[in-house]
Amino acid sequence: MTVEPPDTDPLDALIARRGEAALETLAALRASDPPTTGGRVLSYVYDSGVEGVDRLAVRAAGLAHGVNGLDPTVFGSVARIHGGIVNRVRTILGGDAGDGPGSDDDEVHGVVTSGGTESCVLACLAAREVSGRAPGSGGTIVAPVTVHAAFRKAAHILGMRFVGVEVDPDTGRVAGEDLLAAVGHDTCLVVCSASSYPTGVIDPVEQVAAGLDAHHDPRIGLHVDACLGGLVLPFWPGGVGSTWDLRVRRVTSISADLHKYGFAPKGTSVLLSRGRARHRASWFSTVDWPGYPVVNPALSGSKPLEPAAAAWAVLEALGDDGQSELVARTARATGRLVEGLAGIEGLRVIDSDPGPLIAVVADGSVGDARRVHPHLWADECGRRGIAVQAQPAYRQERGALPSSSHLTITPVTERLTDEILDVARAAAEEVRGLPDPTPPAAFADVLAALEAGALSPGDLLALPEDDVHAMVSGVLADDDGDDGGMAALLAAIERLPAEVGARLVRAYLAAVME
Ligand SMILES: *Cc1c(COP(=O)(O)O)cnc(C)c1O
Repeated sequence: MTVEPPDTDPLDALIARRGEAALETLAALRASDPPTTGGRVLSYVYDSGVEGVDRLAVRAAGLAHGVNGLDPTVFGSVARIHGGIVNRVRTILGGDAGDGPGSDDDEVHGVVTSGGTESCVLACLAAREVSGRAPGSGGTIVAPVTVHAAFRKAAHILGMRFVGVEVDPDTGRVAGEDLLAAVGHDTCLVVCSASSYPTGVIDPVEQVAAGLDAHHDPRIGLHVDACLGGLVLPFWPGGVGSTWDLRVRRVTSISADLHKYGFAPKGTSVLLSRGRARHRASWFSTVDWPGYPVVNPALSGSKPLEPAAAAWAVLEALGDDGQSELVARTARATGRLVEGLAGIEGLRVIDSDPGPLIAVVADGSVGDARRVHPHLWADECGRRGIAVQAQPAYRQERGALPSSSHLTITPVTERLTDEILDVARAAAEEVRGLPDPTPPAAFADVLAALEAGALSPGDLLALPEDDVHAMVSGVLADDDGDDGGMAALLAAIERLPAEVGARLVRAYLAAVME
């Protein structure tokens, strides 16, 4: 009797056949997604425009396949790949010893995470631990209201309190004094963005650092959320200065996403922290269970090496010169689009800091008949094949940040600026002078009852989940017919109290996924 060689294992053939069918299904599903490359989707995706970058990432991920990133003592490649990423990003962000007045305490360490949200949550956890506060004891995270939602999420998860500081409604800028004035004895962490996702503003890091230094407990952290800007601002042509990175000595941590302007596939970000104590404060370890000793520097246990390996390979391949060239393309595209969009009657471009983000709002200086609502415009651009992202108005006591639409510019955009501007102009023609979008009909009764005071936000929050589901399913069903688009949904969000809006969008996504 001979033993069957493994390649004739009948299971192999079975899996190959079914696998092919699954891959065909996957390809068909992907074909109906918006394109992740090519530059027609101006949020969510960051396309270098260089095919070789994506091919390299896929190959590197293939080589890393199967590794469990949980344990670098077993899989030594994990420590080396993560270390390589940390070293490179630390250099880019001015965190190398010698870049500042160094002592051992000052040394910058880092952890590779699955994304910006995880990096931000870990920064908040470290801040809570360094301040010696228990969850639920009132420790605050102080940040401009324009900071990424990840910090509200961190507060929610970690038993901390988010204190949002209002910004100038016209410019989106926070005053450093206002931010500092919100710092109190409960504060664990102050956060600045470089850049802020919704506005593109770079917050006044240096001023905040100086104020903290002069007047506050040195244990209070100062985190710079450079998830978006970390790998693009340092290479911006003409420079944006280094007044926001680790060269500012009072900055205690900084986050940067490789899966944004590192042009890597989704799943890699870095949190850099000053000093070993803060770096290790967000780790979790235990030997108090019958299994293996657990040490988790980030939130997950078992984790892939694939995304980090891909990100590392792309960093290595690009180098400073490659990264500079890609950012130069991004900057040229941004400049042309800002100029072109500013020329469209009825729209106004928020004039933010250097960087790859553009926000457009309705031009308040023209009459209603000439005004372009940014959400109607966004929906219309989408119908014409260019996806821009609608952002709801944000209520503040000192005046609301208006409804806006967001564009993330990437290197590939440079090839498309004319096409994008043609679409932008045609879309503006189409919707100029139209009345503001109205909420979906399915919400009309609820909104009317809320506005008349017949229903309170509390009543809505107390509704059983199944009732909320039924309401939202109605909107999804309507969507197939006379499509109010995202503009209608955002119109509802803008009229609802934020907690109710949050419940609605949760129900909306859940219904989409059911
Ligand atoms: C993208 C982003 C985040 C969150 O990152 P994810 O990778 O989406 O989790 C945080 N802050 C800023 C400024 C961002 O742009």
